[in-house]
This record gives sequence, structure tokens and C-alpha cells, in this order.
Amino acid sequence: MNHHKRPLVIGNWKMNLDYVEALHLGQQLGVLMKNKPVEHTDVVLAPPFVDLRSVTSIVESERIPVDIAAQHVNAHDNGAHTGEISVSMLKRLNVKWILIGHSERRAMYAMSDDVVSATLRSVTRAGVQAVLCVGEAAEVREAHEHEAHIAAQLASALEGLDEKARELVSIAYEPIWAIGTGQTATSEEVSAMMAHIRSVLAHLSCGGARVLYGGSVNADNAPSLVLEGNVDGFLVGGASLKAESFMSIVQSCDDCYDGKR
Ligand code: PEP
Repeated sequence: MNHHKRPLVIGNWKMNLDYVEALHLGQQLGVLMKNKPVEHTDVVLAPPFVDLRSVTSIVESERIPVDIAAQHVNAHDNGAHTGEISVSMLKRLNVKWILIGHSERRAMYAMSDDVVSATLRSVTRAGVQAVLCVGEAAEVREAHEHEAHIAAQLASALEGLDEKARELVSIAYEPIWAIGTGQTATSEEVSAMMAHIRSVLAHLSCGGARVLYGGSVNADNAPSLVLEGNVDGFLVGGASLKAESFMSIVQSCDDCYDGKR
């Protein structure tokens, strides 16, 4: 782990848990965090849109030390965009973070690099923290083009951002072949990509951004990924749906930052 940056762990619940189930998971996380406080790690939960209100209210009323994220947002401020949600609507719900360009949005809902870039601008203009997701498909890695692919995704989204906006950006590197497949990238692959991303970010004047790994992270592989992968934290899908496994991943980051491992 890069010990200079405070770790960040985000649970992406995807399209799982209705608002009653979401409340239940929020409560369970609250109990675990009370029993074993997290000292050094920023913890963020990204529930579905319709759960945001219930999860933010339980987090506030029970003083659970987590921030709330949205999984996606529309780049426009308002208007005729049936079925979409704006940044100001999310801000009103006390949403502090927004995931942008998750590979499932890019692959299944035709989110282009241009839309990712516009969304990033709209989120940071509103002063909300942005988690830019990047990652390559298996064929791209097999062709040894993964570094160029990630550099292009980063440049397309980040080039020309002003300084205030750049301070609100974190990066999640999520190889598509590792998401939801159980096929985690090795610590060596993660560490090499972390170094590559940090050098691209430095060229884009974004060197302060935290860089997370995502892709089949679980309670068993998190400790070695933290120790050897040189990550600033994780974006967790499946394993964030169970309070114990999510908190165990958070604890791996916390212990490592604290030098306990
Ligand atoms: C994700 O959805 O961002 C993700 C990394 O999912 P999983 O942990 O289930 O692979």
C-alpha cells in the first residue's frame, strides 16, 4: 500500500438490495463499525438510487462513519432526460461521491469516453467527489495494449480539468475480465498497473488522486493485494453485499496503513 494516502474502500452494491434490505445491511455495518472502529480508512457505500434516502438517513441517525456514493449520474443539469438523475438531486440527498464510467455502464449502456468526460466535469463542478473507473477487456490485455488503453481512458477524462476539479478525483482500476468473475488480477499485475496509472496521472497534473483496484476483491485476497499491490484502496462489488466480508476488506486496508501487517 502507498502509505502516504489515506485508504479508500467503496462498496458498489450494483442493482442489488431493495430499500428495506439496504437499511438492514447499513445497520449491520454500523454495528460492526461500532465494535471495531475503522481508524485510517475512508469507507463509502454506493447503493442503488432508490435506496439512497433510506441509507443516508440511517447513516446520519446512527452516526455510522461512512459516506454515501451514487453508482452513476447524468451529465446534464436537468430537463428532458426521462429516467435519469442529476448531480444536484444527489447532492440534495447528501451524496458525497459519484462513480463515473463503471465498465458495466460503458459496455451495457453505451457510455462513451465523451460522456464519461462530460459527467466528470458536471460532478466536479458541483463539488462532488468523482471516482473515475477505467479498465481493459481481456483481449486488450492479451494484445499487450492494456497500458495504452488505460492511459487513453485517463487522458480522455482528465485532460484540461481545472485544479479544483482535479482535487476531487479518485481512480478505480477495474480490469473487465476480473469484475464479478472470481478471477482477481495478481498482486504483480495490480502493482504494475498502479505504477503505470500513477505516472500517467502525474503527467496529467493529477498525482494527488487515490488509485483503487476493483475486480473480485474479497476478504481472502484483500490482505495480499493491499500489501503487494500498492493500491490506495478498493472498489468492491459482490463482497460488499455482506457486512462481514466488506468490513474485513476495510480492516485489511486499515491494518496495513497502521503498519500492523
Ligand atoms: C465492481 O462492480 O466494481 C466490482 C469490482 O465487482 P466485483 O467485486 O464483484 O468483481
